[in-house]
Amino acid sequence: MLTSPKPIAAVASLAALAFEPTLLRKLNQLGPRYTSYPTADRFSDVFGAEAYEQAVAGRRAMGARHALSLYLHIPFCDTVCYYCACNKVISKNLGKAAHYLTYLKREIAMQAALFQGMNRVEQLHFGGGTPTYLSDRQMSDLTAHLHQHFQFAPDQLGEYSIEVDPRTVTPKRIVTLRRQGFNRLSLGVQDFDHAVQKAVNRIQAEEDTLRIIDAARFAGFRSISIDLIYGLPKQSLTSIAQTLDKVIAAAPDRIAIYNYAHMPHLFKPQRRIAGDDLPTPASKIDMLFLCIRRLTEAGYIYIGMDHFARPEDDLAIAQRQGRLHRNFQGYSTHAEADLVSCGVSAISAVGASYSQNEKTLEAYYQRLDQQQLPIARGIKLSMDDLLRRLIIQRLMCHFELSLASIEMAHPVKFAAYFAKELAQLKLLETDGLLLLEDDWISVTMKGRLLIRNICMVFDRYLGTAKEPLRYSKTI
Ligand code: SF4
Repeated sequence: MLTSPKPIAAVASLAALAFEPTLLRKLNQLGPRYTSYPTADRFSDVFGAEAYEQAVAGRRAMGARHALSLYLHIPFCDTVCYYCACNKVISKNLGKAAHYLTYLKREIAMQAALFQGMNRVEQLHFGGGTPTYLSDRQMSDLTAHLHQHFQFAPDQLGEYSIEVDPRTVTPKRIVTLRRQGFNRLSLGVQDFDHAVQKAVNRIQAEEDTLRIIDAARFAGFRSISIDLIYGLPKQSLTSIAQTLDKVIAAAPDRIAIYNYAHMPHLFKPQRRIAGDDLPTPASKIDMLFLCIRRLTEAGYIYIGMDHFARPEDDLAIAQRQGRLHRNFQGYSTHAEADLVSCGVSAISAVGASYSQNEKTLEAYYQRLDQQQLPIARGIKLSMDDLLRRLIIQRLMCHFELSLASIEMAHPVKFAAYFAKELAQLKLLETDGLLLLEDDWISVTMKGRLLIRNICMVFDRYLGTAKEPLRYSKTI
C-alpha cells in the first residue's frame, strides 16, 4: 500500500504555534515523558540477567547490523541541588568514586563479552550525578577501559557526549575531556539568576559557565548544549528573560528547557524548596511561551517537548530527515542503536526489551561480586508494546503518523485495532491539537506543546496505573 503525501500541517512553521493558556491549563495533567514505552514503572523483577542475555542473543541471531549506543552512569555529586530528581549519591569522599569505578569497569567488561563481535559504538554518553566528579586520571582510566573493550567509530562519525557541571571543571579540564575522546558537551545551567540559584542550592557564577563554553569551542567540541529549568523557586518572567538573553548570547548548539516538576513526596531534596516560592501554574505557562518565542526568534528550531537546536545541528537535521529518535537521554540521532547502559540504576534498551540495573550501590556491588550482570528488573516487549512504542516514537519525534506505514509494518487494521484511541483523538482534534485524516494523524503546532497528552492516548498501561503520582505534569 502506498502512503499519501505528507499533510501541510505537519510541516507548518513554528511561527504558527497557537498559544491558548486556557486549553493548556485544561490539559495540563500528570503523564509520562516517554523516554521509553512501556515506561519504567512497568518493569518487573521477573525480567533479570538471563532474560537480558536472551535479548542480546536475539540481536546476534538477527545479524546485529547496527552500532551500539553506550551510556555510563556516574552517580556522585559534591552537593545537592534541591530540585534534583536524579539517582545520585551526595558525597565529598572521593574514595567512593574509586571503589565504584572498579565495579563499573567489571560491568563494562561483562557487557563487552556479551556483545563480542557486534560491539561497534557510535554513541557514548556519560551522565549522572556528575560525571566530572571523577578526576582526570580516573576519567582517562575509564575511557581507556572502554576503548579496550568496545570498538569506537572515528571521532567525525561518533557522538561522544558528557554532562559537565561548570562548578566542577576548569577550562584546562575541558581541553583534557576533548583529548579523552568526548566531542559533545552538555552544561547544566538551570538559571543565571542569583536568587534562584540560592533557592535551589546551586550557586554557579555566570562567568564560570561562559568560560567553560569558550574553552569547549577552543578545544573543538562539535556541539555544546545548555540545560535550563523553568518553574524553579524565585523564578519570574523577568529572571527567565534575562537568563535567556545570556544563553542566546552564548549561542549553544542545543538548548533543553525542562519543566521543574515539584514532587517532594517522591524526591527528598525537593522538600527543602518552599512551596510559596514556586511560580504559579499560570506563570509557568507564560515562562514556557516566553522561552519558545525568544529561542525561535533567535533562530533555534523547536525540536519537541523541551528541546531546541540550531538548524545546522545534527538533531535538527535528523528531524528534517525523519531519523530522529527518543531514548533515555531525550532526543537522539541514532534511531536503530541498541542502548547498553552501565552503572547503578542505568537502563538499557536492547532489541525488544528494557532492563534496569540495581538502584542502590550496595545491591549493585553485591550482584557484580556474584559475577552477575546487576540487572534488577525489566520488560520484554509484546507485539502490542512494539506497535505502540513505534507510534509514540513517531508522534514524539515527527509530530505525524502515517497509518498506512503502520499497517505495512504490522498485521493490523489501524481503524479497527485502535478504534478506542481514535475516538479519544477525536476529542483532542476538537481542541485543535491534531488533524485526523484517512491515512494520517498530524499534530498541529498547538498540539506540539501537548504531545505527551496525545501519546498518552496510545499508552495501554495508563488506565491501570497503580501510582499515577509518579508522573509529572505534561506542561
Ligand atoms: S541536579 Fe545534577 S548536580 Fe545537582 S544534585 Fe542532581 S545530579 Fe547532582
